[in-house]
Amino acid sequence: MQYLRKGTPIRFETKNTKPTTHYIWRTRRDGRVRSSHAEREGQIFSWDDPPEGGHPGEDYGCRCTADPYLPEASESMEIALRGVSGGGAVWSSTDFVRHYYHGDGRGVTVRETGHLSAIVDEYMAQVEKRLKDQIATEARDKSTGSFTYPFGRPYNMTSVVFSIEDTVIGGKFSGSVEEQHGVLNAEGSFDFYLKDEFSDPADIGVEVIDQGETIFENIHRPLDNYLRGRTGLPPRGPQRLEIQTGEPYSITDDWSGTLRGQIYLDPARSAYG
Ligand SMILES: [Zn+2]
Repeated sequence: MQYLRKGTPIRFETKNTKPTTHYIWRTRRDGRVRSSHAEREGQIFSWDDPPEGGHPGEDYGCRCTADPYLPEASESMEIALRGVSGGGAVWSSTDFVRHYYHGDGRGVTVRETGHLSAIVDEYMAQVEKRLKDQIATEARDKSTGSFTYPFGRPYNMTSVVFSIEDTVIGGKFSGSVEEQHGVLNAEGSFDFYLKDEFSDPADIGVEVIDQGETIFENIHRPLDNYLRGRTGLPPRGPQRLEIQTGEPYSITDDWSGTLRGQIYLDPARSAYG
């Protein structure tokens, strides 16, 4: 048994051995415990917010002690995106084709085409869970310290008007992790990018034919195949066609985000990884 001199706060003794933010108030549970302290038996207090009269052992003659309290941490992982809003009027498929023929190859941002938020929504719907799992795995490997995690691959964005099949979306996570009492606290930031190229207007040629009188010829395909194979329309006389050639152009963008997570070190207990 260790006796403290009067005026020596017991909190430092306890804190040095168990660094916790909260403690459980413990009395001696005998007849000499003052009633105001007896009421605190088993209750949880914060080291930053002492109750009236101070922490255990601080009040005159107090024999109470503080047991370390480790709150049962629950897991959470949140990704917040930035730089996704904004953009102009939404481009139709025809606008993308028109730019192919009249844009002189000038690259466009997804934001400029008005599709960024829809693309990012679709991307996150496909990737968010896996991204969290992968970062949780990296954080567990690291345990304490900083780490980076690059990612990226083609995604099918057919459901969003212009992007046909493979659109590469990727990025890099840079963060840090700290282990405390079996729980990993991770935080960091994302830099996302999108890379695509518009080079084959025949892929959306149906809409062009439906909407305009001019039929754009895809320079990579015979016009007959284009008409018969992709639209089912009967071939027309070549004298009625206005033949143009276009220039492929890049479609790119970038945005960012942050992550905060609290996950179990033990993967068997965890919902992540
Ligand atoms: Zn006491």
